[in-house]
Amino acid sequence: MSDTHILLVISEAETRLFLERTVLSPAGYFVSSTADWNTAESILQRNPPDMVVLSEQIDGRSCLEKARLLFQRFPFTPVCLLVDRDSEITAIQAVRLGFYDCWQVPLKSAEILQTVERALAQRQRWLEQVRLKTRQGTSSLEERMNALEAIQRIGRKVTSMLDLDSILSAVVDAAVEITNAEEGSLLLVDEMTGEFYMRAASQNFQQEYISSFRLPIHDPLLAEVLKTGKPVVVDGKTPQKIKTSYLVHTLIYAPLIVQERVIGVLEVDHRQSGKSFSEQHIMLMSALADYSAIAIENARLYARTESERKKLESILTGIEEAVIVVDEDRRLALINRKAREAFGIPAEASVYGRRAREVIQHPDLLDILFDSNPTIPTRAELTLDDGRVLNAQITPLRGIGLVISMQDITYLKELDRIKSDFVHTVSHDLRSPLTAILGYVELIDRVGPVNDQQREFIHRVQVSVQNITALINDLLDLGRIEAGFDTRKEVVQLSTIAQYAIDGFKNRLVEKSLELQVDIPDDLPKILGNPVRLRQMLNNLIGNAHKYTPEGGCVSVKAHAEGGQVILQVSDNGPGIPPADQPYIFDKFYRASNVPADTPGTGLGLAIVKSIVENHLGRVWVDSTLGKGTTFTIVLPAIDSAF
Ligand code: ATP
Ligand code: MG
Repeated sequence: MSDTHILLVISEAETRLFLERTVLSPAGYFVSSTADWNTAESILQRNPPDMVVLSEQIDGRSCLEKARLLFQRFPFTPVCLLVDRDSEITAIQAVRLGFYDCWQVPLKSAEILQTVERALAQRQRWLEQVRLKTRQGTSSLEERMNALEAIQRIGRKVTSMLDLDSILSAVVDAAVEITNAEEGSLLLVDEMTGEFYMRAASQNFQQEYISSFRLPIHDPLLAEVLKTGKPVVVDGKTPQKIKTSYLVHTLIYAPLIVQERVIGVLEVDHRQSGKSFSEQHIMLMSALADYSAIAIENARLYARTESERKKLESILTGIEEAVIVVDEDRRLALINRKAREAFGIPAEASVYGRRAREVIQHPDLLDILFDSNPTIPTRAELTLDDGRVLNAQITPLRGIGLVISMQDITYLKELDRIKSDFVHTVSHDLRSPLTAILGYVELIDRVGPVNDQQREFIHRVQVSVQNITALINDLLDLGRIEAGFDTRKEVVQLSTIAQYAIDGFKNRLVEKSLELQVDIPDDLPKILGNPVRLRQMLNNLIGNAHKYTPEGGCVSVKAHAEGGQVILQVSDNGPGIPPADQPYIFDKFYRASNVPADTPGTGLGLAIVKSIVENHLGRVWVDSTLGKGTTFTIVLPAIDSAF
């Protein structure tokens, strides 16, 4: 008992010493005693006492004010007041003021010791209570923290996992854990049968029980949840028959609500004990039920999207075209069987969502994917490692990305090559007899007189043979340029070549009353090219403008330099080219649908132009509006930028 500390602040020495030496110390208490407040204060700070005894007067003044401060500072320390026999303060007043007891001089040892014991026991009880309360507070706080953590955990699961079974099992486990229930389950409405079935359950349920569990929808409690969309709580002492096969004492049913419809309930119960559930439990169950509803809805949406995707994929897998879809960040969204085969991507490799660059190695395909940002559909040819050639149609789709569909055109390419070879051989072999025909026709009037009609016939033969020769020359040229035989190039000034070409057309333009506009600066940057071919290119373009533009129209030839390139444009205000024909006019033998049948031509001119331009590392395209006119634009690299 020596660690029980009693502080005596008593001005009267005799009483103080009596209490200390005769009563308290012998009883085993540790006593500090003083007559003044200053010393008392330092003792209070140094070693707070378990009990205090104050005399009514200290330092010549009433102790009441100081006592009040003491009650506030040490609310669990009993303070006794020592009063004289003639004091005005009664024992009742003292207790009302907050003192534990009031002792009157002369003091009786036995009474004092009894009071001290009682006071200390009281103090002990107060402290116990406080400890208990604190412990309760802490554990309920801990419980709450655990509950919140469990909810947070489930929240994370719901957003990060798509496996519905694990999510729902985790939800039921958390519900049981948070509510300290004996068991829990998640029941869903079976739309087909109108019954509740068990979708997930706590560990204590047998698998067969879960799978065979069925509860009619009109079960009174479930029906109430379905009707009100609010949690239902059973909190009775007598076991209630809730489920068909067992009794429960207490339970919570929290509704799973999707689009204002109850699709199931999350349930926890006590079967053995009659432990009740708190308001907080109901609230947490509702939160968990909401999570389950979200998870179920997510899974349903995912399943639907996935089945749509699978359907689309099997369609795309079945078709003969290779198809690749990338999103706007160039991540693979779809790649079908043919495309995997073509680009050597193993069927089992999971590629969706990965960057195209990580999956695809083919350099030309990567160029298509990354180097261009097309806004309109474009075309390109891709040669695969095994020599096959694919024709790629690249279609940008807003909000989706790029769709690349590819057809194998190896066979067509081969046909094209055979055809070119054939045309080349035949044209070559035709040229000699044609030269012979022309030669002999020219000789006819030298060997004897011819009449006018004969002369006319001879002229027609000559024109026809010239036409055939021109055609054959075109074909041979094309063959040569395409075969890459045309490699001779020199530094040339396009303005000079253009001028020659224009001069060659001047008379014909005047004859057809076509106005000619020329805007070609002399100081165009030089280009590296074949002057004969460049002239041929201009002749074809100006020739077309002349041929297709009706009398009185206008033809213009312009050039300028821009960004290390020379840009040449040949325009007219003729009939224009129908949009449907425009993609094909550079193909061999193609003529637009609006060309009158009697307009001479074979559809080779622009094919030659395109071959020449490409042979010079340039680009050519057409802009044309029906009834308004046509502009051909050619871009050729100027000498500095090309080399
Ligand atoms: P050729 O082989 O004699 O040049 P062509 O002129 O018909 O015959 P291309 O020069 O290749 O062949 O032109 C292809 C087609 O493009 C033409 O048939 C015509 O329909 C269209 N075309 C070309 N240039 C023009 C133009 N300036 N105005 C309208 N249509 C044009
Ligand atoms: Mg032409």
